[in-house]
Amino acid sequence: MRDKELYRKILGIEEPWTVKDVELDREKGEVRVELAHRAGEGLRCPECGTLSPGYDARARRWRHLDTCQFRTILMAQVPRVSCPEHGVRQVSVPWGEPGSRFTALFEALVIDWLKEASLSAVARQLGLGWTETSGIMSRAVRRGLSRREPKLPTHTGVDEVSFQRRRRLEGTNNKVRLLSSNAMLESSQVRPLPLLIAHTR
Ligand SMILES: [Zn+2]
Repeated sequence: MRDKELYRKILGIEEPWTVKDVELDREKGEVRVELAHRAGEGLRCPECGTLSPGYDARARRWRHLDTCQFRTILMAQVPRVSCPEHGVRQVSVPWGEPGSRFTALFEALVIDWLKEASLSAVARQLGLGWTETSGIMSRAVRRGLSRREPKLPTHTGVDEVSFQRRRRLEGTNNKVRLLSSNAMLESSQVRPLPLLIAHTR
């Protein structure tokens, strides 16, 4: 199997992207994989997904998982489109997030290591800067938050203990406090609300 076909398969590169070249730089200890987008094929605005005319292309690099002992770099001229609504935007690439200099798989590796070791230890072992590592962590947090569905309060609880102490609770009257946390469900203090209101009158 030729180098380009090997890397196309292990990187999961699909149309309209293809592997244009693979270069081994022994001095730098790097494998550089050049990816290319087939001209004029299905360029979409990253904001709205509208098929848009090509504008130009910008050179970009991403660090990927190492190939054996060699640091592996993906390189590509990434097209920019001219969206009628959003203006000139760089198209999304399937192997990484917009603005990141690392592939998604490399970022996943970093996140796995951050579960096991400190940020400074992970940065040192993977040859990353503090800012790069914390940037990877921030993107992971942002992805997690974007997947989380907004939760409306699903339960109402009454703080019996505070009521008995006759303390005023900020933003409420001194009898009832509304809780938006599901933690009340796990509390032994949870009682049916009508019963509690009747009890406190
Ligand atoms: Zn658009």
